[in-house]
Amino acid sequence: MMQRRKTRQISLGDARVGVVKIGGDAPVSVQTMTAGYTHDVGATVAEIHKLAAAGADIVRVAVPEKKDTDALRLIIPQVRVPIVADVHFHFQRALEAIEAGVHKIRLNPGNIQDKAQVRDVIQACKQKGLPIRIGVNEGSIIERKDKQKRMKELGGVFGNSRHGHFLAIMIAKLEEYLDIFYENDFYDIAISAKSPDPTLCIAAYTEISKRFDHPLHLGVTHAGPKETGTIRSIAPLAHLLASGVGDTVRISYANDPVYEVEDALELLYCLELRPRKGVDLIACPTCGRIQVDLFTLVQDVRKKLREEIELPIKVAVMGCIVNGPGEAEGADVAIFAGDRRGIIYVQGEKVANVPEEQILEALLDHCKQFEAKVKSGQAKLGQKVVQIAPPDPIGELGSGFDKIAAGQVEKLPGLTDLTVSR
Ligand code: SF4
Repeated sequence: MMQRRKTRQISLGDARVGVVKIGGDAPVSVQTMTAGYTHDVGATVAEIHKLAAAGADIVRVAVPEKKDTDALRLIIPQVRVPIVADVHFHFQRALEAIEAGVHKIRLNPGNIQDKAQVRDVIQACKQKGLPIRIGVNEGSIIERKDKQKRMKELGGVFGNSRHGHFLAIMIAKLEEYLDIFYENDFYDIAISAKSPDPTLCIAAYTEISKRFDHPLHLGVTHAGPKETGTIRSIAPLAHLLASGVGDTVRISYANDPVYEVEDALELLYCLELRPRKGVDLIACPTCGRIQVDLFTLVQDVRKKLREEIELPIKVAVMGCIVNGPGEAEGADVAIFAGDRRGIIYVQGEKVANVPEEQILEALLDHCKQFEAKVKSGQAKLGQKVVQIAPPDPIGELGSGFDKIAAGQVEKLPGLTDLTVSR
């Protein structure tokens, strides 16, 4: 496990929805935000259920209007995950959300600046033991009301040291804002410093992590469509998390927020910051050696295994004997394909050789059997039982040596010996 930066711990939630801790020695949590209108109670409850089922530890909702905070009174009793109210322009929304039973407040220092108003929110949170996230997003920290100040700040944004300029503004505004909280003896704070610019995110969170010990909520804001937003988000988040920075994560795509949760979880699993839930699927990218429809097979396998397998079984779906045996050796359950067929291995032991149309069913069946064995203590995840030797591609997979013999495919090292021995 990588070394994580020590932060203060905050917690949100209650016995009914569950308590989620952020910072300290708590696992990195995953959060997301509903995409619909909060005042549509039925749709919001359904969306929160969907996001929680996908693995979100915390769900945030926007409360731009009074009808949204009113809706919270009906929404919160129906959900089983801590809810954060995102307050942007009016402190009154924060007070209403707190009264409605929300579990955390997000304030934007760029928009709620009046000290007396911030103090009111702090006092209300204090009374109910709720934490507050201070979000200093790039898009909202530049001065809006004071024209002269705005021109000065914007001038620097277009200067040579864009990052340096933004960082200086972010840190200065954050310090100024934090002082209001410290003056009120309030420390249950998380900080975020998001930007759509991945390199600015790295710089901002790194700087903030050196200066403050509050837990950090990581995210790249407005990352765009999932197709490009994935890399835009994961590149800085992986860098920060691998450096030990970050206590909770929100990925933001212009798409269904379920993808945000799935990708954030996968990131944490890959960095071993959370124990994996469900199957760990690896698959080959295919190449000119492929003789089955592997892309369709992989998607079908992914869907089925997610629905039916709960343990983190490592499953390899490989297109041929070139890399198949190597990956299969490292997997609990593996299939490598040949000419319209596939051989299935369970911890190195060959258990089936089936035609292409039966691969999915057979693989699922063997995954289920293996999971049952693990659950009953007869098998252990990640244990190599048998060393896999590549099958004879002519006899078992119906491909390979005939083509090699005919000079259509290059000879692979080691395979000649196997032919002789059979
Ligand atoms: S496993 Fe076989 S089909 Fe898949 S990429 Fe590797 S060589 Fe190509």
